[in-house]
Amino acid sequence: MKDKIYVSTRNSSETASASEAVTRGLAPDGGLYVPTFIDDVRFDLNALKDLSYPELAKAVLSEFLDFTPEQIDACIEGAYQSGRFDIDSLVRTVPTSFGGILELHHGPTAAFKDMALTILPFLMTTAAKNCGEDRNIAILTATSGDTGKAALEGFKDVPGTKILVYYPKDGVSPVQEAQMNTTGGANTRVIGVDGNFDDTQTGVKQIFGDTALADSISQAGWTFSSANSINIGRLLPQIVYYFYSYFDLVRQGRIELGDLVNFSVPTGNFGDILAGYYAKLTGLPVNRLICASNSNNVLTDFFESGQYDRNRDFYRTISPSMDILISSNLERLLFDKLGRDSESVVQLMDRLSEEGVYSADRGLFPEFYAGFADEAETKAVIRRVYDTEAELIDPHTAVAEKVREDYAAQTEDATPTIVLSTASPYKFARPVYEAVFGDAPFGTDDFEIQDSLYDGTHRVIPEPLTGLRDKEIRHSGVCAPDGMADAAAAFLTEE
Ligand SMILES: *Cc1c(COP(=O)(O)O)cnc(C)c1O
Repeated sequence: MKDKIYVSTRNSSETASASEAVTRGLAPDGGLYVPTFIDDVRFDLNALKDLSYPELAKAVLSEFLDFTPEQIDACIEGAYQSGRFDIDSLVRTVPTSFGGILELHHGPTAAFKDMALTILPFLMTTAAKNCGEDRNIAILTATSGDTGKAALEGFKDVPGTKILVYYPKDGVSPVQEAQMNTTGGANTRVIGVDGNFDDTQTGVKQIFGDTALADSISQAGWTFSSANSINIGRLLPQIVYYFYSYFDLVRQGRIELGDLVNFSVPTGNFGDILAGYYAKLTGLPVNRLICASNSNNVLTDFFESGQYDRNRDFYRTISPSMDILISSNLERLLFDKLGRDSESVVQLMDRLSEEGVYSADRGLFPEFYAGFADEAETKAVIRRVYDTEAELIDPHTAVAEKVREDYAAQTEDATPTIVLSTASPYKFARPVYEAVFGDAPFGTDDFEIQDSLYDGTHRVIPEPLTGLRDKEIRHSGVCAPDGMADAAAAFLTEE
């Protein structure tokens, strides 16, 4: 086994240890860290198949991190064994006619982001210690809704850290906004940005590239890092549930160990599905990874034509966590598929930032299928799954299910397929209610609709979402995209 060395997608000689990669978030040259050693990692399915989720997480993370076994145990215990999930198994795969629905939303904020963001603060503080970083860590996060709350809960009151979340002011659901703006903790701040998610994410990346700002906050004892999926420490924990769900299907007698499965993944920033790709690279028998988008279908076009073109209308949809036109983690896939040649990646990323367009050979991605669902299709699927599988799914999950159906119809591939369910339907109660019951009564707010949805379906409202409306609003700041850096500087220098 070689050393666990990571390189930047934009400069192959820009190397970092695992601990350095997790501490920094983004590489100094603006690239994303990727493991150089992934071809040497090969998980033994037989050895892993009966492990609990925390045990499996230990097996997976040990291969990718330079932590001691005791350090890994402590991270896993803090995140996964401290009673923060509402089911003992942490995740579960509900059997369906086509394979299963993998529920990833049983954590403290009722979204799949919890799978990684409950553990990231432990990984980051451990990594910082390992590489002798003695400055405090300022987490900057751009969110399309779910990352923000999950990161706030993860880093809230963690010593030696502050967390600042930026969200597109009119681009998240009312429940998501209430979840974020009611967050307590002495080290948290939430700011609405007058722009969309791409403006917000670009603003955060610019702050990371601002060396003058980095110097001035460093003098005040701070260094920036990221809780977005550009941080490899966000991605690695997500590999675990692909394996876990596969073993669920084995346990359910649906497949034999070694059989192929497909995964259908509701995709925004391409982090979740990239973790599935890493699972495949490291030995999980995956046939196809189905990349499901909403009307912001830049990835569908990319996988079909090879051309990535962000110059298009931006839609606000009922699956807002996927309202993204610049999918950051695609850069990691490109790096892998272009022979791990950073110069080719730089050329494409320069074209993306200058012209908004680049092209790659569409034949490079045989293990991916891509499709999208519009708003009406998404709602129709929520209704159909409720009627036929008795499952109440959220709009993001519905997008993945719709594209799975299209894939099955188009290819006649009968491989069992696991649809990733990424959020509780109660986070998006209005569209879910409307899908199942028709128009919501005039004048009702989103919290009243949660109650109506409960009355109609008797599905339990997750604990983190109850009582939100009565909580005190603690954050209400707003800034323009070009005011984001000043807001960060102010937050870090105040007492
Ligand atoms: C973040 C998110 C997604 C998209 O995941 P990516 O890793 O950004 O592709 C899908 N669904 C929900 C509910 C999310 O919060």
